[in-house]
Amino acid sequence: MTPAAYVHLDLQAARHNLQQVKRYAPDNKIMAVIKANAYGHGISRIAEALTEADGFAVARVDEGVRLRQAGFNQPITVLQGFVCHNELELILQNQLDSVIHNPDQIEILQQHASDKRQLRIWLKMDTGMNRLGFKGAEFNAAYQQLSHSPLIQQPINLISHFANADDLLDDKTRQQVELFNQATTDYPGQRSIANSAGIIGWPNVNSDWVRPGLMLYGCSPFAGKTGADFGLKPVMNLHSRLIAVKNVAAGETVGYSGTWQAPSDTRLGVVSIGYGDGYHRHTRSGAPVLVNGQRVPLIGRVSMDMITVDLSSQANAKIGDPVTLWGDGLAIEEVAHFADTIPYTLLCGITQRVQIVEHPYT
Ligand SMILES: *Cc1c(COP(=O)(O)O)cnc(C)c1O
Repeated sequence: MTPAAYVHLDLQAARHNLQQVKRYAPDNKIMAVIKANAYGHGISRIAEALTEADGFAVARVDEGVRLRQAGFNQPITVLQGFVCHNELELILQNQLDSVIHNPDQIEILQQHASDKRQLRIWLKMDTGMNRLGFKGAEFNAAYQQLSHSPLIQQPINLISHFANADDLLDDKTRQQVELFNQATTDYPGQRSIANSAGIIGWPNVNSDWVRPGLMLYGCSPFAGKTGADFGLKPVMNLHSRLIAVKNVAAGETVGYSGTWQAPSDTRLGVVSIGYGDGYHRHTRSGAPVLVNGQRVPLIGRVSMDMITVDLSSQANAKIGDPVTLWGDGLAIEEVAHFADTIPYTLLCGITQRVQIVEHPYT
């Protein structure tokens, strides 16, 4: 019998999605974003599957160090850079590339001016996200400072980040591109601005490197769409099994707080998956679940280790039957909709106790 709650990683799908990125951005280099344990998929296995990428991006220094320790030799960019000397030292030792986004980092770099090693950086411009980066004149001042530092590999690379690229009607993206292009037009370094939504939705944005995250995992960055709409395939398939099948009489309630009441005698299935595995507690009754490959609705509250489903349409369902919570045949975007969230949080939310396997159980 299959284990309870496990993820089948479809690495073939990951490679396919990378090829799709190349189709959307044929003239660009690809920095595959594998932060947060590769969006919950497992960083090493995803990095291994994506060797065709030109480099990787992670959020934090320790993620980059772990990748190096696992033996990956590609360029690895640390999107948040360092906050102290120790972290800069780890970056240098591990030959990671660092985003530079604030004056404190430049101060730290200047104290390392006599260091004989070289650091490749991405100088970040804040073009409207108002999270990390230098704005306007400060960006140019930072560029000048860093272009004279022997520690910094020249020419300096240039980076910014979209705030609203998933909204194709919002003019902000075009404004961000314009600001970035204006500020960097005289600089010789490589440029990077587009995330998944930028790659798919704003094809005319010109930057040397694209930074896909979500689309590599087969998901749509646009609300109301699924990855399949853009030729992407789901990498994460979350599975479990039925552990009880029973009948409840009309008028009975099911689960904590009795939020679901049987309108008529109902055949009910209990699935071994819950918020303790990363299936969101706020997923509403009616959310689709695949039992034996057929859609049935979630009913009642999600508990830590279990959910309940309406099996009225499956007279023969029995204990041990396979259940899919999302993946092939059931888009995670649909489930996210019923949980009032986005696919990012569902992917990242898979917990430690969920086994991750590379081959489906048969
Ligand atoms: C996470 C991240 C990305 C990838 O974003 P997706 O929407 O997942 O494609 C790209 N760039 C930066 C700076 C990020 O933090």
